[in-house]
Amino acid sequence: MPLYEYECQNCKKVFTEVLTLKEHEKGEIACPSCGSKEVRQLISSFIAHTASKT
Ligand SMILES: [Zn+2]
Repeated sequence: MPLYEYECQNCKKVFTEVLTLKEHEKGEIACPSCGSKEVRQLISSFIAHTASKT
């Protein structure tokens, strides 16, 4: 499942969005906290969490 992590450049809130490839390509991501579209995509931590078993 494509999970994308973003940080809002306006209020610094970090949030995750599950998007289809089409939605991701459109880039219409808005902060759920303040509604700003000034968001920066982070590297998803999804893989790190699932690979933490040693
Ligand atoms: Zn925000």
